[in-house]
Amino acid sequence: MEFLFRHEKPRKFQLELIRDIYSAIAGGKIFLANAPTGSGKTDAALSAALTYAANTNLTVFFLTPKISQHKIALDVVSGIAKRCNEKIRAIDLVGRRHLCLLNSSEYDNESFYHFCENKRKRKSCEPYNNVRKFDFSNEKKMEKIVEEYGVARSFIEAIEFAAAYQMCPYELLLRMGKFSNVIIADYYHFLVPQIRDGLLARMEKRVEDSIVIIDEAHNLASRVRGYLSLTATDRMIGRAEKELRMFGFRSEKLYDKFSDWANEALGKKEEVVIEKEDLAVLLEEFSPELVTNLEDAGSSYINIRAKKSAALKLAIFLSEWMNDIECVRIIKRTANGFKISRKSLDPAVLTRKLNETYSTILMSGTLQPFEMHVDVLGLDKERVEAKDYPSPFPERNIINIIATSATTRYSKRNHETYATIAGEIEKIVEATPGGVAVFFPSYNVMNEVIPLTNIPKEVHMQQSNMGPHEIRALIGRFSEKGGVLCGVQGGSLAEGVDFCNEEIKTIVIVGVGLEEMSAEIEALIKYYEKKFQKGWEYAYLYPGTIKALQAAGRARRKESDRVAVVYFDERFRWKNYKWIFGHAHVVTTATPSRYVKDFWNKNSNLKIG
Ligand code: SF4
Repeated sequence: MEFLFRHEKPRKFQLELIRDIYSAIAGGKIFLANAPTGSGKTDAALSAALTYAANTNLTVFFLTPKISQHKIALDVVSGIAKRCNEKIRAIDLVGRRHLCLLNSSEYDNESFYHFCENKRKRKSCEPYNNVRKFDFSNEKKMEKIVEEYGVARSFIEAIEFAAAYQMCPYELLLRMGKFSNVIIADYYHFLVPQIRDGLLARMEKRVEDSIVIIDEAHNLASRVRGYLSLTATDRMIGRAEKELRMFGFRSEKLYDKFSDWANEALGKKEEVVIEKEDLAVLLEEFSPELVTNLEDAGSSYINIRAKKSAALKLAIFLSEWMNDIECVRIIKRTANGFKISRKSLDPAVLTRKLNETYSTILMSGTLQPFEMHVDVLGLDKERVEAKDYPSPFPERNIINIIATSATTRYSKRNHETYATIAGEIEKIVEATPGGVAVFFPSYNVMNEVIPLTNIPKEVHMQQSNMGPHEIRALIGRFSEKGGVLCGVQGGSLAEGVDFCNEEIKTIVIVGVGLEEMSAEIEALIKYYEKKFQKGWEYAYLYPGTIKALQAAGRARRKESDRVAVVYFDERFRWKNYKWIFGHAHVVTTATPSRYVKDFWNKNSNLKIG
C-alpha cells in the first residue's frame, strides 16, 4: 500500500506504526499507540489518516494540548502536500483571543470572551461585520480565497491573511474549515460542547465523519479535569468588591464575608473539603442580584478601565459552582489568604465524545498503562485497540541507571538526603561531556538540593512563577551556553520541549514526581477506587511515574542521539515503578556517576548511525 508520506524513507518501526493506524482507522477503532520519543508519531498518524481520508468526506482533527505543538503538524501536512502532490488543506485553529485583529493581547480568557461577545452582539467589530457581510456561498469568491490561502498557514500567517481581507481571522478560518481536510486545534475545540458545536456547524463537519488524532494523549485526562475545575482566590474576591464599588453597585462586604466564612471553615487546618451547599448558605447573605451585578461591574470595568476583570471571573465562578459534576470542593489556606476550588474528578464527562468519531487515535511516548487511559477517559472498550512500539534508538546509545544511594520519599527528605543527591549531581555533571538536565519532583526539593551543589558550570533554574516567555529565554540560554538545566517533572521544561541539537547529554531524574498528598488527590483516589478499584494507581502512582518517564525522554530526537539517564531513587527498582523501563536494560548502582563516566568515555569515539 502506498502511503502519503513526506519523507523518502520511514524511520525504524514507523512503517509499522503507519500501517497499524491505517488499519485502526479503516476498522473504525479507538487506537492507543505508545511509541517512544523519536518514533515519528506525528508523521505516522497524519500519513495514515490522510491516506485513508483521501477522496472521502472525512476530516482529520489533529488535537494538541499546546499551541507550540501545532507547528510540527503543519510541517507534516505541507510536506505531504508538496511531495505527494495531494489536494490537502489545513487550518491552524487557536483560541479567538490569539487570532483577534483588535488589540486583545492583554485580556485574560474570561475578559476577552466577554469583550468579543459584546462587540459581536453590538455589531461594533468591523472585522466581524465584514465576515457577516461576505457571501461565503459565492463559489467564485470562495475559490479565489481558498486558492490564495494555499495548503496550510500557521495561525500567525492566517492573521495576516485575514487582515488583508479585513475579516476576523477566527471566523474566516472556520469558514475555511469547510474546504479543509485537516484541522489542527486544541483538545478543547473538539471536546467542549459549547465550543465544538458552533465550530463544527460553521465548518459544516460532523463528529461521526471525523478522524481524531490526540497528540500527547497522556495529558488528556488531567487537561480536561483542569478545564472543568474552578478557583476563586481571596485576592480575586477583594478586587471584585472594588470593581462593584467603582461602578456604583453595593459592595456587599464581599471580602470580609468570604474571608470570615473561609477562616471559620478552615479553623486550624490547611485545607478542608466542603459541600456545594456550604457556599450556597454564604451566598444567601448577599443580595440575589450579586452575580448579575458582578457581571455588569466586570463588563463596565473591561470597557472603560482595564482588560482583566476580577468581578467577571467571580461571577463565572459563582454561577458554575452549583453545577452538578463529579468533583471535590475545597477551601485551602494560601500564603496570603485562601482559595476556594471546585476540582473535577471525571474527565470522561467530555472525553466520552471520542467514542462517537469515525476513528480516534491517541498517541504518546508515555501512554502506559493503557487500561488506565481507557478507564479514566471512558473509552468504549469494544472499539479499543492498543499497541506498544519499541524504541527506534540502538540500545548502545542509551544507558538507564537507577541510583539507589538516596530517595526523595517524604519520610527521608532531610539535609543528609539532599546533600547526597547534590554530591552525586556534581559528579554526574563532571562525568558528562556536555549539557545535563536535572528534573526534580518539586520546586521545594530543587531549592533544597541545588544550593548544596558546587557546579563549575552555569546552572539554569526554572522557577515556579516563570511565564512562557521566561521559559523560552531560559531554554535559549541553556541551548547557547550549555551547563545544567534544572526543572520539575511534569513542568514545562520536562514535557513538550525537545532539545534537538544534543544540548542534553545526561538526564537526572531526582525522585518520583508524585503529587503531594492533598484533599484533591485523596478525593481522586477515593473516586477511582470506587469506580475502577484502582484509586491509588490511577490517581497517584501512575501519573507520578509517567512524569518521570516524560522528563527522561527530552534528549532524544534522532536515532544517532546518545544519552545517559540516571533515575535517582531506589523506588524505581520497585515493582510498581519499574514498569516504566519496559524491556530496556537498566543498571542499578549506588554510584551512578561511575557508569555515566564509563558510558561517555567508552563510547566517545563510537560511530553511530
Ligand atoms: S469578532 Fe474577531 S476580530 Fe472581533 S473582537 Fe472577536 S475575535 Fe476580535
